[in-house]
Amino acid sequence: NQSLHEFDPDVAAAIDAELHRQQSTLEMIASENFAPVAVLEAQGSVLTNKYAEGYPGRRYYGGCEHVDVVEQLAIDRVKALFGAEAANVQPHSGAQANAAAMFALIKPGDTILGLDLAHGGHLTHGMKINFSGKLYKVAAYHVDDESGLVDMAEVEQLAKEHRPQLIIAGWSAYSRQLDFAAFRRIADEVGAYLMVDMAHFAGLVAAGLHPSPVPYADVVTTTTHKTLGGPRGGVILSTAELAKKINSAVFPGQQGGPLEHVIAAKAVAFKAAATDEFKDRQVRTLEGAKILAGRLTRPDLAAEGVAVLSGGTDVHLVLVDLRKSELDGRQAEDRLHEVGITVNRNAIPNDPRPPMVTSGLRIGTPALATRGFEAEDFHEVADIIAETLKPAYDATALRERVATLAAKHPLYPGLPGSGL
Ligand code: PLP
Repeated sequence: NQSLHEFDPDVAAAIDAELHRQQSTLEMIASENFAPVAVLEAQGSVLTNKYAEGYPGRRYYGGCEHVDVVEQLAIDRVKALFGAEAANVQPHSGAQANAAAMFALIKPGDTILGLDLAHGGHLTHGMKINFSGKLYKVAAYHVDDESGLVDMAEVEQLAKEHRPQLIIAGWSAYSRQLDFAAFRRIADEVGAYLMVDMAHFAGLVAAGLHPSPVPYADVVTTTTHKTLGGPRGGVILSTAELAKKINSAVFPGQQGGPLEHVIAAKAVAFKAAATDEFKDRQVRTLEGAKILAGRLTRPDLAAEGVAVLSGGTDVHLVLVDLRKSELDGRQAEDRLHEVGITVNRNAIPNDPRPPMVTSGLRIGTPALATRGFEAEDFHEVADIIAETLKPAYDATALRERVATLAAKHPLYPGLPGSGL
């Protein structure tokens, strides 16, 4: 019964150091967020001890009466949050949610049509060495080079040419909204299922600030840890008609025992996502991204060859285009890291630089919005980023400005080891 610090000071020290890193830097990786303390508590609970293969009321293990309550709460809450007919909350991650959804809907050797990885798609949407690229034939659509928008004419043409059994709409690096109605029409034209992977923008959908894919898609998958701000994990929403197939594809199709401690944390996150406080966070997330896009399109940066893909954003992230800049994606990521801002470099469509270098940055605002950032803070952080991307940047002065912002919005005060 020793505490972590007593029993394993090495692991404890690394966790404390990570907490300190999160507190003292500005987290702008678009897929990250800060889970509330209530979520951390549920996830660190004794539910981690319980085997519960099966579903609430239909388990293959005894003693499931309490985890049944937890899992049913998660299911009911996520269905209500998104207006879905059915939900499976067991996928261990977004990738596993996608694997299970595909396993339910199509057979190996069938064809999928998804957004090209290099144009903002996810690995699970058909990348060559991912399961999706190995099990299925893949056709990939792209964004238009001029507008930076998904080329729906190409989606339609590829759908007619390849007759996919499944069309996937969704993205990991895209700054605009997809036209779900158009995807539905195309899927119907060729007799394909439509799956929307809303992992990135699920929080915006929950808050009513982004169109919902639920009325259009046969299946909607998501992660719970990005804009939704919950524990790391996945969820599959579907029509009532597909629910049985989806459940059987998750367990026993893809997974064994569900992570009931994570499912408890998902339930807590879904409760949080239905609050006004959550909506306010998502409003500030969008506002922050627009402020950032506005700052990065000003003439002082254009003169350095820095641009914003698609010219702006409708979501929680901005894609910086460095194709005309001396600075490449890796250098820009390193520089921002040097001043205390964490982002990731990202290949952009038709990127002339190699994948380990890239000509892009993906910068997101969800974690800072969770931390309490308001418009004036986002103006300051946008200015710090702009100054850092210029040749004559002053790292010491910029680091101080980052530290001031971090101190203004303390993260996890009162958490053991936080020092705040
Ligand atoms: N789908 C999309 C669109 C994503 O961006 C991601 C994660 O980056 C995933 C799925 C996979 O989620 P996970 O990392 O939990 O497997």
